Amino acid sequence: MPLPPLVQPAEALSVDEIRRYSRHLIIPDVATAGQKRLKNARVLCVGAGGLGSPAMMYLAAAGVGTLGIVDFDTVDESNLQRQVIHGQSDVGRSKAESAAASIREINPLVQVVIHNTALDRDNVFEIFRGYDLIVDGTDNFATRYLVNDAAVLLGKPYVWGSIYRFDGQASVFWAGEPANGPCYRCLYPEPPPPGMVPSCAEGGVLGVLCASIGSIQVTEAIKLLTGVGEPLVGRLMVYDALEMSYRTITVRKDPQCVLCGPNATQTELLADYEDFCGAVSEEAVSATLGATITATELKEWQDAGKDLFLVDVREPAEYEIVRIPNSVLIPKGEVVSGEALARLPQDRQIVLYCKSGVRSAEALAAVKAAGFRDAVHVQGGVLGWVRLVDPSLPAY
Ligand SMILES: [Zn+2]
Repeated sequence: MPLPPLVQPAEALSVDEIRRYSRHLIIPDVATAGQKRLKNARVLCVGAGGLGSPAMMYLAAAGVGTLGIVDFDTVDESNLQRQVIHGQSDVGRSKAESAAASIREINPLVQVVIHNTALDRDNVFEIFRGYDLIVDGTDNFATRYLVNDAAVLLGKPYVWGSIYRFDGQASVFWAGEPANGPCYRCLYPEPPPPGMVPSCAEGGVLGVLCASIGSIQVTEAIKLLTGVGEPLVGRLMVYDALEMSYRTITVRKDPQCVLCGPNATQTELLADYEDFCGAVSEEAVSATLGATITATELKEWQDAGKDLFLVDVREPAEYEIVRIPNSVLIPKGEVVSGEALARLPQDRQIVLYCKSGVRSAEALAAVKAAGFRDAVHVQGGVLGWVRLVDPSLPAY
């Protein structure tokens, strides 16, 4: 179903703008009227990361008048493989500032608004109200549900994308008028159980996948702003880079949706989205109480000659990149399923670690439940080891 343009056209284009956007102006469906709508448009990108990078670069080049950026993170070397809006000299710099500088270089006519903050329930409405459309480039479930809930409660459309390894998804969620489409909760009513879906930091992502999905998001944003084509409302685009296939799946509005259904019970934001998505399960949290050591303490134990059985619960590819010396690899799945428990010695101190401490907490719960009551895990994982003990090792 075609939708009316989201934005009214601006008054007029300057000579500079006509020169710059001429390849848009000669497309009959865009033309001067469409370009004037883009000039008047206010688009917010949540996250200046993998998806936000190509999205903002193309939104800026396309002539979107005002581009907002929400990000509180700083540029890390491990971002540069895919977050192409940032460069080598931006490492350590605020991502929002770095992205703003790139946007100004691509198109100085764009007004850039920096929100150098973490989006939360206290600021999301105020920030979202200033924009016509949201582009969601977040990489975690807590922020994703927050973005969805705020957008639905404000009746605003947002373009969502998600990436993992070689797979990507994108859709337009717009539960309000005139689209009356489904929202993210119609598709995914509940977040996955903690630890079930690895993040890109844990599972990896092919860098160029960000461009494939980010460019779909920009295409949808431009279509909505200018009112051309068939928007991706009520459809989920699924991209498989290995098969090189795109398929679309119909997503219906869920009549039981707590947020946008006819009998919706959720009329405001949740109190705590981190809690709703449960970064770590309750079993894992209680297992780690009194059973957590720092990387520095682990080093002291090793130096003192303590009889340790140090278990790396990450995946083999991660173990190859960097590991704590004298560790053995037993991926978390084998620990949690119980199949690897027989490999754990009864008479040695068991120490578990992963990348950052989440997976090892889950594994610790399983190990302790199997009777290894003295087992501990390393706070901050191998990244903590690199930071506190051996900075010559690579972080990833
Ligand atoms: Zn819904």
